[in-house]
Amino acid sequence: MSKAEWESNEEINIFRNYLRINTAHPNIDYTACVEYLKKQAASLDLPVDVLYPANEDNPVVVMKWEGKQPELPSIILNSHTDVVPVYPEKWTHEPFAADMDDEGRIFARGTQDTKEIGTQYLGAIRALKAKGFQPKRTVYITFVPDEEVGGHLGMREFVETDYFKKMNVGFSLDEGSASFDENYYVYYAERTAWPIRFKISGTAGHGSLLLPKTAGEKLNFIVNKMMEYRASQVKLLKEKSLFFGDVTTINLTQLSGGVQNNVVPALLEVVFDLRIAIDVDLEALEKQFRDWCEEAGGGVELVFERKDDFVPPTKIGASNPLWVALEKAMNDLNLKIKPQVCPGGTDSRYLRPKGVSALGFSPMNNNTPPLPHDHDEFIRADVYLHGIEIYEKIIPAITDI
Ligand code: ZN
Repeated sequence: MSKAEWESNEEINIFRNYLRINTAHPNIDYTACVEYLKKQAASLDLPVDVLYPANEDNPVVVMKWEGKQPELPSIILNSHTDVVPVYPEKWTHEPFAADMDDEGRIFARGTQDTKEIGTQYLGAIRALKAKGFQPKRTVYITFVPDEEVGGHLGMREFVETDYFKKMNVGFSLDEGSASFDENYYVYYAERTAWPIRFKISGTAGHGSLLLPKTAGEKLNFIVNKMMEYRASQVKLLKEKSLFFGDVTTINLTQLSGGVQNNVVPALLEVVFDLRIAIDVDLEALEKQFRDWCEEAGGGVELVFERKDDFVPPTKIGASNPLWVALEKAMNDLNLKIKPQVCPGGTDSRYLRPKGVSALGFSPMNNNTPPLPHDHDEFIRADVYLHGIEIYEKIIPAITDI
């Protein structure tokens, strides 16, 4: 296809117009986005509800495609409507113009995370409806807010509503990402996020002395222990050629304390971003951290800035009909999927504890450089359209299980 053909393609236009609605954090006004999605639902003849589970600023848009056997557990096709902020000066294209270059690359925030899957689902449904297809199970296409800042005002609240309970959801597809090889990654689990803060108290006094048990010495001890742990994970990643999602990642992200250069401070604080691999014993790890606080000389307080519960992974392989159907549909297209633990967090972590078999999948492999949250985020028009064809194959397969 040529640029002119892509520019007149209806699906590409629907996608580009969706990208042009600025839904970047912070203080998002979702009004135009909701109106746009309602218009899309109307054009597909799908009933649509708008819910506000957390507050009136955070709408959840739910479209319904009734199945032939609506009594069966339903399937969610989920995406989030919010996107992360941009540094416009770092972009070579205006981030909300959805420019297309001669190669068909469409530049905009959200082209990979996750406006593309939102309208790809709709494009696939349009094609399937045109062929007269009706799913066996009811399909809900959900568009949720707030995912990029944790989903607390979006999916987390939505799954607690009566509306959600009545949907009787058994399975879901949510966002994945581009991959690093020809395989399409399918995320079946997420690591446990425990960002932690050490509040380190020590002997304060004049900077000309050598006081015992200073906060600086204790900080040094704690940072060393954490960095040794980090090094062990770097080694594991390299030696076993693992994916980031398979190991624990530890990064020092914040440091604070002190008043002036000749005063030994009473308090220093250090924060680590910590995402724990799914095979780690969380209780033992917490004990290890607490032991280090003691070994540092005491006076060290461990604060969990967030302490997620362990979420059991979604089953993969023959025991999960969703997995089987997805894999078969992809193999029929001569495409391969590969199970991975998602390195980041997605809304699937709120669905899994509700008994939903949740998989993360975006129809991109290494045909797309992974640029979510990056400058000049783009997707190629042909990759986008191929994604619709992939869903056109996947949706009948997974709704017929
Ligand atoms: Zn996302």
